[in-house]
Amino acid sequence: MSDETRRVIFLGPPGAGKGTQAARLASHYGIPRISTGDILREAIARGTALGRQAEPWMEQGGLVPDELLIGIIRERLLQPDCDPGYILDGFPRTIVQAEGFESMVGSGRASDLVVLSVQVPHDELLKRLSGRRWCPSCQATYHIDNSRPRVDAQCDRDGTPLIQREDDKEAAVARRLTEYEKQTAPLIDYYRQRARFRAIDGDRSVETVFQDVQQAVEGEA
Ligand code: AMP
Repeated sequence: MSDETRRVIFLGPPGAGKGTQAARLASHYGIPRISTGDILREAIARGTALGRQAEPWMEQGGLVPDELLIGIIRERLLQPDCDPGYILDGFPRTIVQAEGFESMVGSGRASDLVVLSVQVPHDELLKRLSGRRWCPSCQATYHIDNSRPRVDAQCDRDGTPLIQREDDKEAAVARRLTEYEKQTAPLIDYYRQRARFRAIDGDRSVETVFQDVQQAVEGEA
């Protein structure tokens, strides 16, 4: 591990495993993982003004308005724990957000910014999302087939009963995948031209994908 700054953006549809890989990478480098989904879910749980604004969009699987997200990220990146770098998980999700980010931190091309696009076939995404279970208190995620909790339907960390996220239900999942194609997939071309960009095959074991992720981050520019 070196002491250079690392800034990584994870792109990819819901269910691609961005959260899992981002968390591993963040703990590997000792830098924060910034998940806008987690920030919004926490705001909803705490009943803040941000939570009240975001909730109707999130429940239906839509995207929360750009200006709210840009504001969240602007504030978060000012925290000193971001000085050595950070991993963005779930932001940017639109071209407007990417432009907002660029105007905050400068262009990625000449810098350390690495953009990873995690790709997984549509059928596999549906399987992953419909089987996903979630701990509303610590935000840990499980899967009914391949990542079960030790005690049925209870979080391993704090014993909270696991639930299915509202936006992992069928209608919301369909909308999230459509939103991804329409709004987020265009970021692939956007970043191909503006940063170090790598496509990652996410349809393999967590460990194998992580090896690729690490290599992509540390590889030659
Ligand atoms: P995630 O946990 O990343 O799948 O995000 C869950 C939900 O939070 C999304 O379906 C959106 O409703 C909302 N969300 C998270 N990040 C963003 C973003 N960058 N832009 C707009 N909405 C977002």
